[in-house]
Amino acid sequence: MIPFNAPPVVGTEVDYIQSAMGSGKLCGDGGFTRRCQQWMEQRFGSAKVLLTPSCTASLEMAALLLDIQPGDEVIMPSYTFVSTANAFVLRGARIVFVDIRPDTMNIDETKIEAAITERTRVIVPVHYAGVACEMDTIMRIAREHKLWVVEDAAQGVMASYKGRALGTIGHIGCYSFHETKNYTAGGEGGATLVNDPALVERAEIVREKGTNRSQFFRGQVDKYTWRDIGSSYLMADLQAAYLWGQLEAAESINQQRLALWQNYYDALLPLADKGRIELLTLPADCMHNAHMFYIKLRDADDRSRLISWLKEAEILAVFHYIPLHSSPAGEAFGRFHGEDRYTTSQSERLLRLPLFYNLSATNQRTVINSLQSYFA
Ligand SMILES: *Cc1c(COP(=O)(O)O)cnc(C)c1O
Repeated sequence: MIPFNAPPVVGTEVDYIQSAMGSGKLCGDGGFTRRCQQWMEQRFGSAKVLLTPSCTASLEMAALLLDIQPGDEVIMPSYTFVSTANAFVLRGARIVFVDIRPDTMNIDETKIEAAITERTRVIVPVHYAGVACEMDTIMRIAREHKLWVVEDAAQGVMASYKGRALGTIGHIGCYSFHETKNYTAGGEGGATLVNDPALVERAEIVREKGTNRSQFFRGQVDKYTWRDIGSSYLMADLQAAYLWGQLEAAESINQQRLALWQNYYDALLPLADKGRIELLTLPADCMHNAHMFYIKLRDADDRSRLISWLKEAEILAVFHYIPLHSSPAGEAFGRFHGEDRYTTSQSERLLRLPLFYNLSATNQRTVINSLQSYFA
């Protein structure tokens, strides 16, 4: 069976995990956590990067940091993972879903302004497949309406928009190091990028159960106390050790994924030119990270037939999000603003192909051959 995904392994992880065990400190904010955070701060350019247990936790941290209150409204696409919405629903917010653009599956920046009310507090762009949302427009709208921007950059590590790393453009950015993402912290993990320096001090407190323990460990205060609401949003240093192995190899992981992505693109372009399938279009300003390779079929039936065909050939290809606004919780906690022109119709046509760091050339060839014989 050719799986849809396999967790990335570069080979150095075991050594680093062993070294973390030898350090006598397995909990959060150990040596590997510091190394990972500093590496990301320098490489991506963020005021403060904090490792967390997951992107879900990072999004929750963002909602706490921005003091989201019951009745506040948060604008986001409906075509996203549940955590994007849940993090704000947990604070009592109402979610206002806006349609996506069919070319990138990202929030349609031209539909955001009409969805703003006097209760709107945050816009959450989701960089689907590591392809950037139209951030200049989104940041301008946010400035004009005095809103926060939280980037769900779960899929966007090592991708950029006009030369700026995804996750560093909004006030807060959230990364995922889940095993299905480009880099993993041993299965689960995340990072909160605090890009607005005014939020840094409180971010550390919210992450440390509402205490100023981070300042205490740095010797800035002589005891630590309960200062604010918060929770436990630290990543174990054992996990950070795994992640460090991946970050050190980030460039080669990225290049390998981009090469695999390009192989699919080159092989399938003739089918797209004939109008049989659609491939994604990369806006000129976006450097993507090959997080995902998807194609769009004619409709849901065409997609089901192809999924079955590939399964016969022992290849797993999978569809993706069921739009949140049409799910039971989405109906209870949110509303769709404007017309659902593309969210539902485009999501029903989308199919993701196997793409992961350790995918062999032979297995990718098998996938491409099987696709070509289906369309023949
Ligand atoms: C994967 C993902 C998440 C959740 O990440 P976890 O680290 O599993 O919590 C959130 N949003 C998007 C868009 C994702 O792809």
